Amino acid sequence: MAEDCVFCDIVAGKIPTEYLYEDDTVLAFADLRPIAPHHVLIIPKAHRDTLVHAATEKDGELLLGRLLKVAAQLGGARLETDGGYRIVVNNGPAAGQTVYHLHVHLLSGRHFGWPPG
Ligand code: AMP
Ligand code: ZN
Repeated sequence: MAEDCVFCDIVAGKIPTEYLYEDDTVLAFADLRPIAPHHVLIIPKAHRDTLVHAATEKDGELLLGRLLKVAAQLGGARLETDGGYRIVVNNGPAAGQTVYHLHVHLLSGRHFGWPPG
């Protein structure tokens, strides 16, 4: 649990948020400011600032595997409805990371250009 972390507050139930998925280590909920018709965030319950911090932890492989597995499960359902989805992890300011608690964006419901902006 990190101080001044909005996602830790969501995990702690301090910010009322509807959970779309929950298990003992992972939580998923809708993004507050969606950039696609369907925009979900998948986070570890334990605070990890960034992908590299998560990867270097002792449980790194397990945790990152779980995040992607939940993304695949939730994305699989969207694949049927939306024809595809995109998974994004922004790392650092140049990539647009604004919340320093690791999260996977799951985006669907529209076309996504390549290369990304
Ligand atoms: P990033 O820019 O990759 O760090 O993504 C952070 C995301 O968190 C943004 O898309 C925000 O809209 C989203 N966000 C910030 N606060 C909340 C919140 N309280 N509930 C849901 N999503 C949030
Ligand atoms: Zn946090």
